[in-house]
Amino acid sequence: MTRIIDELQLDYSDVLFRPKRTTLNSRSEANILREYTFRWYPKTLRACGIMAANMATTGTFAMNDSLEKFNAVTCLHKHYTPEQLVAYFSKPHPLAFISTGLKDSKENLFNLLEQNPHIDKLCVDIANGYIPKLLSFVKELRTRFPKILLMVGNVVTGDMTQDLILSGADIVKAGIGPGSVCITRSQTGVGRPQLSTVMEVADAAHGVGGMICADGGCTVPGDVAKAFGGGADFVMLGGLLAGSDEAAGRLVTRRALTNWYEPNGKELQTEERQYKEFYGMSSKLAQQKHFGGMARYRTTEGREKLIPYTGPVSQVMENILGGLRSTMSYIGATKLKDIPKCTTFYRVNKQLNTVFADMKDID
Ligand code: 5GP
Repeated sequence: MTRIIDELQLDYSDVLFRPKRTTLNSRSEANILREYTFRWYPKTLRACGIMAANMATTGTFAMNDSLEKFNAVTCLHKHYTPEQLVAYFSKPHPLAFISTGLKDSKENLFNLLEQNPHIDKLCVDIANGYIPKLLSFVKELRTRFPKILLMVGNVVTGDMTQDLILSGADIVKAGIGPGSVCITRSQTGVGRPQLSTVMEVADAAHGVGGMICADGGCTVPGDVAKAFGGGADFVMLGGLLAGSDEAAGRLVTRRALTNWYEPNGKELQTEERQYKEFYGMSSKLAQQKHFGGMARYRTTEGREKLIPYTGPVSQVMENILGGLRSTMSYIGATKLKDIPKCTTFYRVNKQLNTVFADMKDID
């Protein structure tokens, strides 16, 4: 019989942090660097917990070069050739993952990992992390490469999370359908609100010594903090980073309607604005660009968008990390790892005041 889960399922926008008495006098006292130790990977990693998504637009060498300065991780997209990867990793890049799907050449991947032991971080990314082939691939990888850092996804429930970790994953990627250019939910009706996903998956992962990456759905810096508050060890960003110089999408200029017109003016006003191309990895555009056309049995599950150009990713990161530090000072968390213990969420009906949202910015 069809079952309904009555328990409330929440998104980041459904909650706000409750401020607490704090020992921090300023947000500069909040330490956003964490020393990570893993279930399987024998080394430690010092990072700020933010990851650039392994999308063709955001998982670029240029992104990694810039994010390294912030101790943030980049999951390189899977369309670089082995030769390009070997050349790039001839210099140390301790925070970069390479990526693969299940349909990519195993032989290329295994050769790459075998011949380049310093390339030791792998993200196995498939849209539906519940298929049995994923579990057997994770087991095979862990047996063959006992010393790699292995991130696997995507799932939204605790049972599969534990299976993946016990089979060899260090980090499980959580999220089905929350992404900014994702249409899985409208196309398939499948998904789960992201904060509830993160909370359940984190609890399950931590119970068996694993970690999680909250993947997708962060629209503002506060969402990143909420993901950490829900128990995420890492937070993966696509859209928030995709408007930057380091993202691979083309930069284009378009005339856009301003959000304002003079009350007695007759014409709507336009102005030139800069945008970057950003598309979902299962959009038609991605399939055309990277897989030589659409497979017939596939529907698209991704959008193709022109999103506002944001300048260098360093500015975006400063904004996100500034927000995160500030959250930490509000809730009394001195270290990144302490955020969940310091987190109490209010469930809210409305988180933002939008009364002037349609008004013109001061120019
Ligand atoms: P964002 O930070 O933009 O909200 O979400 C990024 C995440 O969206 C990615 O890490 C990936 O998990 C997911 N994603 C990227 N492309 C697609 C797509 O075409 N379809 C779906 N369903 N998800 C996508």
